Amino acid sequence: MNPYNLDISGDWDTDPAVLEKFSRDMSAYRIVPALVVAPKNEEDVLRTLRFAHNEGLGIVSRSGGSDLSGASIGPGIILNFKKYFNRAIRLGEDAIVEPGMILDDFLKKISAHNLMLPAVPSSSALCALGGNVGTRATGPRTAKYGTLDAFVTSLRFITAGGQVVDTAQSLPDDLSTGLRRIQQKFLDDAASRAIVDRRPFIAGGYNLKALTQYSDMGELAAHLLVGSIGTLGIVTEIRLKLIDKRPSQGTLVAHFRDYEELAAAALRLKALDPAALEYSDASCAGHVNGKILNLEDPGMVGTMIAEFDASFEQAQEGRKILETCNISRLWVISSASPEEAALWQDRRRTQPSLLKYCRQKSLLLPPIIDDIAFHLKDFGPISKELGDLMRRLGHEISVYGHLGFGSIHARPYFDPAQGGLEEQIETVSQEAFKILHKYNGTLVGEHNAGRSRSVYLEMELGPAYTYLHEIKKLFDPADLLNPGSLFDTDPICTHMDFSPMRH
Ligand SMILES: Cc1cc2nc3c(=O)[nH]c(=O)nc-3n(C[C@H](O)[C@H](O)[C@H](O)COP(=O)(O)OP(=O)(O)OC[C@H]3O[C@@H](n4cnc5c(N)ncnc54)[C@H](O)[C@@H]3O)c2cc1C
Repeated sequence: MNPYNLDISGDWDTDPAVLEKFSRDMSAYRIVPALVVAPKNEEDVLRTLRFAHNEGLGIVSRSGGSDLSGASIGPGIILNFKKYFNRAIRLGEDAIVEPGMILDDFLKKISAHNLMLPAVPSSSALCALGGNVGTRATGPRTAKYGTLDAFVTSLRFITAGGQVVDTAQSLPDDLSTGLRRIQQKFLDDAASRAIVDRRPFIAGGYNLKALTQYSDMGELAAHLLVGSIGTLGIVTEIRLKLIDKRPSQGTLVAHFRDYEELAAAALRLKALDPAALEYSDASCAGHVNGKILNLEDPGMVGTMIAEFDASFEQAQEGRKILETCNISRLWVISSASPEEAALWQDRRRTQPSLLKYCRQKSLLLPPIIDDIAFHLKDFGPISKELGDLMRRLGHEISVYGHLGFGSIHARPYFDPAQGGLEEQIETVSQEAFKILHKYNGTLVGEHNAGRSRSVYLEMELGPAYTYLHEIKKLFDPADLLNPGSLFDTDPICTHMDFSPMRH
């Protein structure tokens, strides 16, 4: 490979320190790329694509690099959007933004216009809009407002074959005809549709539900690209429909003493349509060094946070439900109070706090089953079975996440001193998959597919899996875009890096 043949106005790098930096995202994986390219414009992306074709290298688009499944690393070219391709082109209700813009920066800008984008991951200081599109990002308020997909109106993207596509305009004929064919086949295939319909709200892999939702092929293409982890196209411009800011009307935090009661209360609270409904278990409470979530009551089994934004009365209804439960403590937090800020600060601190605990105890916390999605009615039994599994396998575990849309982060700890790490990780992953599968749940939820879990999609989707292949073949027949992250994945431990303090 001779990168001097790559003539772009941005820059490229083969410096070992830079390659090392881009060999990791926030997952447990490490793959050193051949080249890191920072494009400044679409022409740079097109030139990089031609270069990749000529050199036989894959391309991984990368924005914030906070992916938890190893989907923003790869052995070929990393296309780093964060460096230059990071402007807000238009602010306002119909916003236009480039993929490399850090989400928090964007949120600050739109807040000045009294607007909000509700799908805000806890990684908002690190992640960028391109990756949010790539993973169909969620946040606590997805409970009420949906994933990022609900706010994407159209995209500009570049195909693996080098076509610049604007989904708000007409699609190239080959894409449009191919998509129509796949859509018709899916609509005629009741068995596959039934499998897809049974999946939880945020189940990952390509968004096959979009095939039944959009008759315009441009819209369909855009909503298939959202959540496609950079395997269908390289997104260069994102158009979003923003909504007016909605301050909370009250937030409740309840520390429960009984698991079944917690699960039942979650269903009753969900029926009130809260803006957010979050959960963390007793283990998290012990580790999170915060003001509100770390109530260390030996009788406490888990904490639930419910935020309401429709009316004060809605929050009062929530309070009545919680007051009938056996709880150690109920916090009633008023809107825009210092406690409200401290609470969400605690919540964002959860993962860093667990990592700190790992460093203190020389444990590892590879994200393996961190992305579970299920139907809320099954939360109780799934939690119990996962807890039993971890006790049987001898792993301490912390669990937290978003009950409001059936998504939890199960984080088992691994002790490298015990050896056999790869086998232990495989076992945890496979056994957890079996539990989830039994309840029509998935390991591929909020953080989307990637090296640690795509392998399960075929088992989970059965005959419907063929549509993922057909869509990929239509957009990227030569498998140039993010190879090995969604299809033909290696066994999950391949490329994992267990060096100390890594996770
Ligand atoms: C502490 C922590 C908390 C988190 N909390 C949440 C959460 O609450 N909700 C949530 O959804 N996720 C969460 N995540 C996961 C992650 O931050 C999100 O998935 C985020 O949306 C990824 O954005 P990014 O810019 O970092 O993406 P990247 O890591 O850069 O990329 C993610 C994927 O998108 C693709 N991609 C990136 N840019 C483009 C582009 N221009 N064109 C096409 N594809 C592209 C990449 O190829 C990759 O497959 C969390 C992660 C951490 C570390």
